[in-house]
Amino acid sequence: MKQWTQHYIDGARRPIRASASVRIHDSSTEAPLGEVSLGSAEDVAAAVAAAARAQPGWQALGAAGRAPYLLALADALEGCAAELATEISREVGMPLKLSRRIQVDAPIAAWRATAALADTFAFVRTIGNSRVTLAPVGVVAAITPWNYPLHQITAKLAPALLAGCTVVLKPSELAPAVTERLMAACEQAQLPPGVLNLVLGGAEVGEALVAHADIQMVSFTGSTAVGRKVAAQAAGDMKRVSMELGGKSAAVVLPGADLARAVKATVSSCFLNSGQTCSATTRLIVAREDYPRCRSLLAEAVTAMKLGDPAEGDTRIGPLLSAVQRQRVQAHIAQAEQAGFDRIAGGPDAPVPATGYFVAPTIYGNVAPESRLANEEVFGPVLAVLCYDSVDEAIALANGTRYGLAAAVWAADDRAGEAVANALRAGQVDVNGARFNPAAPFGGFGMSGVGREGGVYGLEEFLEPRAVQLP
Ligand code: NAD
Repeated sequence: MKQWTQHYIDGARRPIRASASVRIHDSSTEAPLGEVSLGSAEDVAAAVAAAARAQPGWQALGAAGRAPYLLALADALEGCAAELATEISREVGMPLKLSRRIQVDAPIAAWRATAALADTFAFVRTIGNSRVTLAPVGVVAAITPWNYPLHQITAKLAPALLAGCTVVLKPSELAPAVTERLMAACEQAQLPPGVLNLVLGGAEVGEALVAHADIQMVSFTGSTAVGRKVAAQAAGDMKRVSMELGGKSAAVVLPGADLARAVKATVSSCFLNSGQTCSATTRLIVAREDYPRCRSLLAEAVTAMKLGDPAEGDTRIGPLLSAVQRQRVQAHIAQAEQAGFDRIAGGPDAPVPATGYFVAPTIYGNVAPESRLANEEVFGPVLAVLCYDSVDEAIALANGTRYGLAAAVWAADDRAGEAVANALRAGQVDVNGARFNPAAPFGGFGMSGVGREGGVYGLEEFLEPRAVQLP
């Protein structure tokens, strides 16, 4: 069984003097995968001190001097891409084929795309008699979740480092494989000591990091519940925050849209990574008269999705991360049963493999807008279908939760779709199945967060404008 017992601080691996650890399991065999030692506030202090020492030198390199390190990190990660895809697949349950493409190749491309911004991004701008310099915020605490571990780490580290910030990263203790790969990548890229520091731990380490006086910014991705605590703590000394939180994203199918395509795409989004995706479209909003046809299309779409071993090529849905996550999702399903919604697929007794943290893809129809299922993030393979009687009502339903991360609109023509997209309070809206754009801003309205990641928007999060007026 693997032991994760090291931090990476000031350019070197440091043993964790742990008093506690967490055991993680293979999501599809339930066999123990390893034990992660949890660090302490003392370790955090050492990491922050190293980052603070390194920051002026890193800033002095300039973006053009820093970008090659980002490219070297991308190359190093590419060298272990196959291993990493397998490790993440075992940890979180995503089918291996998708894991390689989404969990590993996409973030590596993002490291490179961020490095390229060094050539095009205007760090100095002239506005009238002011010279505005976008200066690095300083020392950044990055705290990330387990569901797309390398992606979420990359979305913070690549722009923070390019901006000239130094970073202390606390990745999720529940998906540790990426941590070790990243340490090796820092060594291979010969990143100057202290520029990137990794501390392993749970809530205690996270809290110590957020509270540290020498942290200037907290970039957090995780649940809304924890994000709230982190933001409140950071507000104490006015640290800048960036919050990427939960979602309950809607797919709105307007009258006359291609219902079959909309259903297929919604089901794919909702069940991607077994529903462990913040931006998953977990609410399907359809015209009442389309509901009977929608119902049978949904049932058909689920039948075509193979649930099983993530290592097998034709598996579309793997297990969840852990027994704890499975139990959480099962509780949501039990509640939906109690509420008496129209079960279209799955449910509490649907067959699943005997071993592994599986939950069958589950769909409920005629879900009441005020119900928990229509409002709470499940973070598992559960789709809620809601019906509307007018387009205004469809928009109101889509905007009717406290979240606002992503959405999809399906319409008979793209312009009509765009008009409705502009009425939605969501940070990302796809019209008629348009593809994901990694350079577009990603983030949420409302309780889905504060700030944006991706492209130039992601870079600006880590920059502080300084205006100098010239005579
Ligand atoms: P989580 O909130 O439990 O944990 C996130 C991170 O915060 C982990 O590293 C955890 O150790 C740390 N943490 C826990 N308590 C803390 C505290 N008191 N102070 C500081 N740090 C603390 O989330 P999770 O279960 O790892 O991830 C799933 C959640 O993340 C879902 O709600 C999902 O929607 C959200 N998410 C959002 C996005 C986005 O971009 N908006 C992306 C992925 C995941």
